[in-house]
Amino acid sequence: MESMSVSRKTFDTYMLPNYNPGKMIPRRGRGSILWDQQGKAYIDFTGGIAVNALGHCHPSIVAAIRDQAEKLIHVSNRFTNEPALQLAEKLCDLTFAEKVFFGNSGADANEAALKIARKYAFETFGSEKNEIIAFDQAFHGRTLFTVSTGGKPEYWQGFGPLPPRITHLPFNCIDTLRQRISDQTCAVILEPVQGEGGVRHFDTEFIRQAKDLCQQHQALLIFDEIQIGMGRSGYLYYYQKIGITPDILTTAKALGSGFPISATLTTSNIARHMGPGTHGTTYGGNPLGCMVALKTLELIHDRKLLAQTEQKGQYIVKRLHTMNQTQQYFTAIRGYGLLIGCVLQNHLKPRMDTIMRRCEQDGLLIISAGRHDVIRFAPALNIEDSEIDSGLNIFAKVMASIT
Ligand code: PLP
Repeated sequence: MESMSVSRKTFDTYMLPNYNPGKMIPRRGRGSILWDQQGKAYIDFTGGIAVNALGHCHPSIVAAIRDQAEKLIHVSNRFTNEPALQLAEKLCDLTFAEKVFFGNSGADANEAALKIARKYAFETFGSEKNEIIAFDQAFHGRTLFTVSTGGKPEYWQGFGPLPPRITHLPFNCIDTLRQRISDQTCAVILEPVQGEGGVRHFDTEFIRQAKDLCQQHQALLIFDEIQIGMGRSGYLYYYQKIGITPDILTTAKALGSGFPISATLTTSNIARHMGPGTHGTTYGGNPLGCMVALKTLELIHDRKLLAQTEQKGQYIVKRLHTMNQTQQYFTAIRGYGLLIGCVLQNHLKPRMDTIMRRCEQDGLLIISAGRHDVIRFAPALNIEDSEIDSGLNIFAKVMASIT
């Protein structure tokens, strides 16, 4: 329905004010271009916050949705279904996983991971082993358990009482982890590359030692790859890049190309503690979502696309460094394939909103991360080189106009 009768004002009238979206309302998308209600085009460097890895409305994804919708959309977990079985098999083929649980969002996948870790520890070692260790600035979702696990107090304040026995440790500090982990720890959860936390990675050596410590204390290591996973780093999953395998891995966002689906991956030994009735969700693993994810996985698990992702990321980082040579806008530029963060100089931090607004005015969409001090790019993995150049030209012009 081509209606101009709704606007940003309608949001304020009818919707919970928990978001503060911009004025511009996207109406249509194709590849890395979005068009608003007035038909103005924007180059999308946000990728729906790392969701639209194949760009907007990829023809094969649209076809998969259409085909599956004509066959079967939902049957409930009273039955299994063919797309779910195919997707589970494919995820196990392509990763360390032997068992898969399907949910509907990133938070849902992490909620399952944390519950699995507690159940495994409870049944294997007893009720005292229930502590979860997480890290500062981590983001694992907004359910009460996952928001409490996340390392951003501003996201959990006011929602107490929170689930107990969650410990937050400083980012990347192996000495603190060594001091704090104990035989009562059931899981250590981390994003190998934090997205919301400022686009920053844990050192591979930290993760290696964290895994050793987990093994010493019989705690499970959980990787939240909801943002960095599904090809964004140039590898299907980042753990494959660093060669360190977790006990549980969560994946969502790009998994469904925008259709809500997530997966929690683990081993048979851990999964056997989740017998019938222990956990569930009505929509998780429905045929439509699983068919979209299967198609997405097939398209992303492509040697050429993954190699291009790394190259495009390196190219963007190189151009950002060139930009920074003359003007020193950023204190750091961090790139992990096509997840890129530019840390603003102190004097520019209060200008973040202006930077985003001016980029939008000039036809480029970007987002922030961290404590609102990191400019984040998470474009589609198949963004055209010409779109990257045009987007960066706009970005350079806007940055030069900011004083
Ligand atoms: N984990 C990470 C690393 C994320 O980046 C996000 C979302 O930004 C989540 C979990 C939560 O995912 P969702 O918003 O789908 O619940």
